[in-house]
Amino acid sequence: MAGETVLVVEDEEDIRELVRYTLTSAGYRVSEAASGEEALRRARANPPDLLLLDLLLPGLHGLDVCRLLRADESAREVPIVMLTARGEDSDIVAGLEAGADDYITKPFSTKVLTARVKAVLRRSGEQVLPEGEAIAHGSLSIDPRRFEVTVGGAPCELTATEFRILHYLARHPGWVFTRTQIVEAVRGEDYPVTDRSVDVHIVGLRRKLGRAAERIETVRGVGYRYRE
Ligand code: CA
Repeated sequence: MAGETVLVVEDEEDIRELVRYTLTSAGYRVSEAASGEEALRRARANPPDLLLLDLLLPGLHGLDVCRLLRADESAREVPIVMLTARGEDSDIVAGLEAGADDYITKPFSTKVLTARVKAVLRRSGEQVLPEGEAIAHGSLSIDPRRFEVTVGGAPCELTATEFRILHYLARHPGWVFTRTQIVEAVRGEDYPVTDRSVDVHIVGLRRKLGRAAERIETVRGVGYRYRE
């Protein structure tokens, strides 16, 4: 049993109860907060291994909790998984841009909850590949030193921006990025990339990647994710 600590921030007692029961059964230690203020106090005093954060809280909003934690000396590294209402895509985008790592939409199955917590804890323990390191997943190879991408050994002629987007996503497999986050990650002085043009670059990228295109997953209403 891992025994990692999850701080559950949720004002609705029955949901908190369900989350506690589910995660405790899966071997996690669970602490609870019923408001954003309490969450901040607890997370700062004793940073958990993961924060499960409802966005709709009385008082301090979950997005503010997110931002404040990301600016906090002791708790900035704590992975945050948001709980959001289904259909509130703009909340998800805002949360990811405020520093959350992933999200779960309500109502959720306990299976999804456990799987998501486990995945985020695993990812947060992994080092992101150094920028210069070559990446190979299945038939797809990315060599950032030579700016080369091959699928099944055959070279893909990517534009500089397509390359940067692919490389950025592939260095963070499993993570969801919003268009704005992708733009910020790949934009150079000579790369005038905008939120909207990310979609166009992704279309071009997928076309050129052929059978490896399925690695770039569209997360509807939110952004993109690379599948390892
Ligand atoms: Ca709530």
